[in-house]
Amino acid sequence: MESVAKILVVEDNALNIKLFCDLLTAHGHECEPVSDSRDAIDAARRFAPDLVITDIQLPHVSGIELMELLRADEALGKVPIMAVTAYAAQGDDERIRAAGASAYVSKPISVLRFAEAVEQLLDTASRDDQLSGNPVPAPNEPSGA
Ligand code: MN
Repeated sequence: MESVAKILVVEDNALNIKLFCDLLTAHGHECEPVSDSRDAIDAARRFAPDLVITDIQLPHVSGIELMELLRADEALGKVPIMAVTAYAAQGDDERIRAAGASAYVSKPISVLRFAEAVEQLLDTASRDDQLSGNPVPAPNEPSGA
């Protein structure tokens, strides 16, 4: 069963905002769009997203800078980030991942690939939550073993 997630979308292009939010809501998720990346950190603190999707090519605060700010934030540092980029040149993959992205999707997006990447990140995040929230006790070692 797919769980409902809160997803913050940082994207300066209105058509992409509509496309991404339509896709996310079609999968039952709640989409919070932010078109000006300077507002993204405040919006993220308010909205407490389960996942952040960010464009890389953004005016003012680039997607790379935004990911670094998110990663450095105490409350938001562990929220998974999916980057979306139009120009994936050689080396970009590493640069994007080094900045904190858990996954990235190239534009123009494949609807299927986009949806798969979102669900995969949410699955991984909820598994990690369960692991950290309900630690499985270590089996008792027989004494003297
Ligand atoms: Mn852009």
